[in-house]
Amino acid sequence: MVDRIKLGDIAVEVVRKEIKNVHLSVYPPTGRVRISAPLRMDLDTIRVFAISKLGWIKKQQARQQSQERETPREFLEKESHYFKGRRYLLKIREHNAPPRVELKHSHIALYVRRGTDREKMPAILDEWYRHQLKAELPAMIDRWEKIMNVRVKDFGIKKMRTRWGTCNREAARIWLNLELAKKPTECLEYIVVHEMAHLVEKTHNARFVALMDRFMPMWPVYKEALSRLPVKHENWRY
Ligand SMILES: [Zn+2]
Repeated sequence: MVDRIKLGDIAVEVVRKEIKNVHLSVYPPTGRVRISAPLRMDLDTIRVFAISKLGWIKKQQARQQSQERETPREFLEKESHYFKGRRYLLKIREHNAPPRVELKHSHIALYVRRGTDREKMPAILDEWYRHQLKAELPAMIDRWEKIMNVRVKDFGIKKMRTRWGTCNREAARIWLNLELAKKPTECLEYIVVHEMAHLVEKTHNARFVALMDRFMPMWPVYKEALSRLPVKHENWRY
């Protein structure tokens, strides 16, 4: 069973287990906080424990969040690029074939034809990100359709300046921001669930929040993570 407690704006996931002692973890890259607690320990006791560790939690989160803010990429060797929340260092390689992207350990290799302009490289990488999302989303949407009992007729991926996702209720189509390919999978999944919840409820009212709480109790953590992770724009809506 998973519970959630709130310490100010920090949401803590509480998992009961067959263990003797309470255990607290803060996970990168989102700074997600989880407490494993003995089966019979009540939530108030766990809350008191969590409050006593608040300073430590914030310190861990700050450390994990001191990642660079995203500035425009220049496509230079060893520049940081993100995929699924992980940081990769760029390697640019020339070859005599169509462009290709490859992940190897901590590197992302961009294979381009000899003499390719740097200005053309972002589009090559974006195409790869789009391809990755297109491959991953059908199964994810399928799984949530069953859980939420809604039907998504179509989905699309596009670059959006101020939104993580949108939902066209009439067409039962959801749109997702290409940038989500760079974020941890749980953040992508949160936006998918959020947009799918709009198929049930149009606005962000109490009913909408109740749906999110029911289907994805940890949603505030992912929302918070999306706003903290390296982003190009400051004010996102969805
Ligand atoms: Zn929304």
